[in-house]
Amino acid sequence: MSDQILLPDTDPHRLARTLSGLNLVDGALTKSISGKSFPVVNPATGREVGNAAASDERDVKRAALAAARAQPAWAAMPARKRGALIAECSRLLSDHVEELGRLVALETGKALRTESRIEASVVADALQFYGGLASELKGETVPFNPDMLTLTQREPIGVVGVIIPWNAPMMLMALKIAPALVAGNTVVVKSAEEAPLAVLRVCQILNQKLPPGVLNIVSGFGPECGAPLVAHPAVGKVTFTGSVETGRIVARTAGEKLIPVTLELGGKSPMIVMDDADIPKAVAGAVSGMRFTRQGQSCTAASRILVHERVHDEFVATLKSRVDAMKMGDPLDEATDIGTIISRGQLDKVLGYIEAGRAVPGAQALECSQLPDAESLRNGLFVRPVIFVGLDNTSRLAREEIFGPVTCVIRFSNYEEALALANDSDFGLAATIWTQSLKTALDATRRLQAGFVQVNQNIVVQPGLSYGGVKQSGLGREASLEAMLDHFTHKKTIIFNMN
Ligand code: ADP
Repeated sequence: MSDQILLPDTDPHRLARTLSGLNLVDGALTKSISGKSFPVVNPATGREVGNAAASDERDVKRAALAAARAQPAWAAMPARKRGALIAECSRLLSDHVEELGRLVALETGKALRTESRIEASVVADALQFYGGLASELKGETVPFNPDMLTLTQREPIGVVGVIIPWNAPMMLMALKIAPALVAGNTVVVKSAEEAPLAVLRVCQILNQKLPPGVLNIVSGFGPECGAPLVAHPAVGKVTFTGSVETGRIVARTAGEKLIPVTLELGGKSPMIVMDDADIPKAVAGAVSGMRFTRQGQSCTAASRILVHERVHDEFVATLKSRVDAMKMGDPLDEATDIGTIISRGQLDKVLGYIEAGRAVPGAQALECSQLPDAESLRNGLFVRPVIFVGLDNTSRLAREEIFGPVTCVIRFSNYEEALALANDSDFGLAATIWTQSLKTALDATRRLQAGFVQVNQNIVVQPGLSYGGVKQSGLGREASLEAMLDHFTHKKTIIFNMN
């Protein structure tokens, strides 16, 4: 544990330079062994704001071995003491919310007011939540035989590999590292190549309280840095959030090693709007559910909005006017509602989907809001949000995860049809239904194939609520007590024979 107290630095450009080219291994900031790094670009301007260590398997090995060395002492600490340390980390992070919000806005292009600052505060919240759950790492006594004392005990797995994406990097990392650490595991995080700096800063702040080696982070590319982390023999569990394709690769390696994995993958989340729905509320739910403020870059984005034909036109017109009123601009500007897409590659992918949708006969692309006109943002990766009407559920745009500000509004004429459309998807992450009828709502919550179903609201993942998908959306649950117990501990059965 270091005595140095980090002061918040709310100049994200300076902070990005300070953190450039570094990993955090065994309690110390360190360059990659190869000395190589790669640029970190502000997607709002196209300018390089710093760089990140290009780590390879040697860096991963160093981090995994540091984590393995630190693990026995960390696990031997009384659980509540570990929890108290994580809660202290949460308090430290609370002082850095503004700083972290600005830094993540700089590297991801997510607007500070509507997204990035909120993400930073959720990180502190997640740590506080799990810090308080340490004494829930309980076992049971089992009525096996009156002459024997039979019990179960929760034990940490060992070293956990954490692989995260760029869309909500700090929050997704926090929801993995907090339960892993509280349960007595040590951790090696592999950050996303597009957003390596804010998560490094979070780990640096946490390392002020944690013993060296307990929490390590390396940056680098998937095949060079992520794959060796999954494969490293010291790593006994991997928790991954990202694409279905990479999730399969991770699961394959974990399968060879026979280690457990948690996978949070994609989504194509349906939102059913019945003809008795409160339309203004449903529209507000579509705006937040589709994460227009994050350019739709969310696994749970309400990207298939199924609307009853009687309210379809009213819904579409209201939705369009709501999104039109949102301001696109510099992510660091308090007036901005919507920032940028993360990278040129992602922008091209989104534009490709929009073009494909336009080419479908009968489809109409309703472009919303306005591109910013500031000269400084000329090279920014902005794209106007698009509401598609006239596409059906067989369209690529309704079947594949776009990860951009593109939603399809699909018309239906009765409830059974809506339900069939909602479930006709490879994914099953989240779903919502909007209706005044309790009977319809209850039926839908039972029959919708998704890990997270909401009625008349569309809130994001919350500490305390199990979160995860069915079908191609993943394996396992996160964010809850159950997630910590089931995914970051082994249960050992112990028998004392007193005869
Ligand atoms: P996205 O399309 O959102 O970037 P990915 O699934 O490609 O999603 O990336 C999510 C995370 O997985 C990133 O940190 C990325 O570097 C990492 N990753 C990519 N390829 C691999 C791999 N072969 N093994 C392990 N991690 C990988």
